[in-house]
Parts: sequence; C-alpha cells; structure tokens
Amino acid sequence: MPLYEYQAEDTGRSCDRCREAFTVRQAMSDPPLQTCPDCGSAVRRLISTCSVSTTPSTRAMLSDRNLKAKGFTKLVNEGGGRFRRTV
Ligand SMILES: [Zn+2]
Repeated sequence: MPLYEYQAEDTGRSCDRCREAFTVRQAMSDPPLQTCPDCGSAVRRLISTCSVSTTPSTRAMLSDRNLKAKGFTKLVNEGGGRFRRTV
C-alpha cells in the first residue's frame, strides 16, 4: 500500500505530529484522511514524491540535465511550504 503525506490545514492549531507533514500507509481505494488521528485538526493530503529505485539508468533518467531536456521542472522542497525550482 502506498504512503500518503498529510499536514494540518491550520498549523497554528495543530499538534506536533500534524504541524509537520506526517505519513500514513493507506490503500489507494481508502478515502483521504480528513482529520489528524492524534488531535482531530483538519488535515490535507500533500502531493508527495514517488518512490523510485536508483539504479544507474534511473539516476541518469532523473538527472537534472535529462529532466530539462525532456521538458520537466524540478522543485526542491525547502520546508515551510517553500519550493525552489532547480531545473
Ligand atoms: Zn494533530
């Protein structure tokens, strides 16, 4: 089953767990969580990175140079909701 990331919608009124993103293992058919299992604050599901094996060919495929050549954009999560575009 895949892992999904959640974070509190209002981080000012949330517990330590949902203030930062936390992961939950769920079936793809399960409905998304609406509230934090610990404190009950409203949470939203984050778009998370997929799990990719890093064999040499995969590494080459995901290199900055190849991503740029294929027209992809690469964003690096800097935390606090900020993303930096690197490609
Ligand atoms: Zn919480």
